[in-house]
Amino acid sequence: MIDKVIYLDNNATTKVDDEVIKEMLPFFSIYYGNPSSIHTFGGQIEKEIKKAREKVAKLIGAEPEEIIFTSGGTESDNAAILSALETQPKKNHIITTKVEHPAILSLCNTLKNRGYNITYLSVDAEGQIDLTELKNAISAQTAIISIMWANNETGVIFPIEEISKIAAEKEVLFHTDAVQAIGKIPINVSEYKINFLAASGHKFHAPKGIGFLYIKKGTRFNPFIIGGHQEYGRRAGTHNVPGIIGLGKAAELAEKYLEEENTKVKYLRDKLEKSIIEEIKDVKLNGGKSPRTPNTLNISFKYVEGEAILLLLNEYNIAASSGSACTTGSLEPSHVLRAMGVPAEVIHGSIRFSLSRYTTEEEINFTIEKLKIIIKRLRDISPFTPH
Ligand code: PLP
Repeated sequence: MIDKVIYLDNNATTKVDDEVIKEMLPFFSIYYGNPSSIHTFGGQIEKEIKKAREKVAKLIGAEPEEIIFTSGGTESDNAAILSALETQPKKNHIITTKVEHPAILSLCNTLKNRGYNITYLSVDAEGQIDLTELKNAISAQTAIISIMWANNETGVIFPIEEISKIAAEKEVLFHTDAVQAIGKIPINVSEYKINFLAASGHKFHAPKGIGFLYIKKGTRFNPFIIGGHQEYGRRAGTHNVPGIIGLGKAAELAEKYLEEENTKVKYLRDKLEKSIIEEIKDVKLNGGKSPRTPNTLNISFKYVEGEAILLLLNEYNIAASSGSACTTGSLEPSHVLRAMGVPAEVIHGSIRFSLSRYTTEEEINFTIEKLKIIIKRLRDISPFTPH
């Protein structure tokens, strides 16, 4: 097993913070009771869950009762959309975008096969939607609008405030997949008219398999997972106690490091971006003119294959990605870059670098140095390089 890596794939998943692990550990072997138990040994854990819920709520400006713990982003996304359809059985239309994560897109494709109408909003070359197209798509049949806060491949941020206003004016439920926004940009749901928000712990230094769904007070909700009475009857199943405790700590730390994310992490991302653009020719920055999360850089190297770049980076123990982790293994060009109109041959040379608060300047300098060598080496042997 490799344990030393220059890890520039933080949009796929993140390292669990040591402080998070420390808080979680006693809940595996000392306080292992079931919080739903009547006895004190189990029941006392309910108080710890309450504290974690308060920390998570605080991170996004919500009330603790508006948070339910889930297994992660995918479950939260599915729960929001399916609930909106169940609570409004006469409505059969969903509006989303072409650049969502498969947690939304695959669900919508499945729903389409079940007879629902789906509008997939297009994006421009910078990855932005057209708000007029959104307004025009809304009808009396629209059950929910689901638009991500930040894109996992490009980091492009959508104008969530405006979108939420449009949804509210038309009295349509609005869900946002904020998996890639949490901990990277400030979020305050109390300022916006958002009904549902999905988040995932492993994208902000909590473990995998834990996440949450924000459900605005007053929004009707039908549970996705049915069984016991946990989470006020809104999400059944014995609580993932260590995960919840870890999520609470990670939320507290996300708040603490938010400024660093937008200064140090952004500085390193910008340095990587600028150096690549200045020192390697024939590159294309994807989504660079849009507001972006401070940690993400998506860039195409013309005349070479992204997979070949990744393999050579891997030889130096540098971990990056050529698209979203979920599509790795498929040679389909990224649906996000395709929607942005990037030509297929350019998409094939695209790399996503995603940094975190653990990324150091030495790592970025090393990556730039090796990247120059790698791209030259690949272009020297590429039949597509104009010589
Ligand atoms: N939504 C977005 C934007 C993501 O980036 C991801 C994970 O990559 C998910 C949803 C799925 O989250 P999870 O892995 O917690 O199911």
